[in-house]
Amino acid sequence: MKVIKKIKECKSVVSSLRRQGYRIGFVPTMGSLHQGHQSLIRMASKDCDKVFISIFVNPTQFGPGEDYKKYPRDIKKDCMLAEKEGVDYIFFPTAQEMYRSDYKTFVVVRKLGQIMCGKYRPGHFKGVATVVLKLFNIVNAHKAYFGQKDYQQMIIIKKMVYDLDLDVDIVSGPTIRESDGLAMSSRNKYLSSEERENAVVLYQSLNMAKDMIKCGEKDLEKIKKKALKKLKGNKFIKSVDYFEFRDPITLEERKKAEKKHKSLLVASAIWIGKTRLIDNVVIKV
Ligand code: AMP
Repeated sequence: MKVIKKIKECKSVVSSLRRQGYRIGFVPTMGSLHQGHQSLIRMASKDCDKVFISIFVNPTQFGPGEDYKKYPRDIKKDCMLAEKEGVDYIFFPTAQEMYRSDYKTFVVVRKLGQIMCGKYRPGHFKGVATVVLKLFNIVNAHKAYFGQKDYQQMIIIKKMVYDLDLDVDIVSGPTIRESDGLAMSSRNKYLSSEERENAVVLYQSLNMAKDMIKCGEKDLEKIKKKALKKLKGNKFIKSVDYFEFRDPITLEERKKAEKKHKSLLVASAIWIGKTRLIDNVVIKV
């Protein structure tokens, strides 16, 4: 496994591999790797001849006062895990390498980037789309892998690829969870043991919504009220940014569960102490 820090070197490695006819799979990450990342790496290894991951805590997707500085970083451990998983190359640039001092260009996926998490983290998806487009240009993979854990991000990337006619297939992987159901996330490291125990209420509230819909409840506002009551009734939940029902493809908001819609995305973002957690489930109606 090779760690590449420079854009120029990464581009030249990729073009040489492409000339030799290798299919390239790419998993962009912010590091602090866990089983969620691991499952995407395994998908890429199955589909492709050579696997690239990137490890880059992207400053442009963090708002002022967010956790950019304290975001967990552990490159040594990440390298060990990546090597064990058969990753061929890690692209690990510095912020200066990615954003030169005269950097000016950003990508905005309108509407989709302003709802749900975008409403509470203004500019977040602009930073995400920008860095992912840069990474796609640098790594130039045939396939790129994204987790459904960050569902809105996955939809936004798919839309950017479609709108900008990019030549990369976006593949999505299922959310990998801890044994109690909490979605794996690098940010789970921030939780105290009591917060960690109570964090599962987020997944439980999504499942409660799922069960109510399966039992025939059509009034999504009613379900939302019950879910908010459950979340806000937990003393470790400081606040709920949103708990919403959306179309899983267009992210249009849904107020009623109707058969014609076939499936529904239920997504939520909550604060446990100083930690913001997100999760979602997709339900067949
Ligand atoms: P991150 O390092 O958190 O930016 O995540 C990098 C990629 O891993 C993104 O595509 C995430 O959606 C994905 N990912 C993160 N956590 C999980 C998880 N628990 N299950 C599946 N994919 C995940």
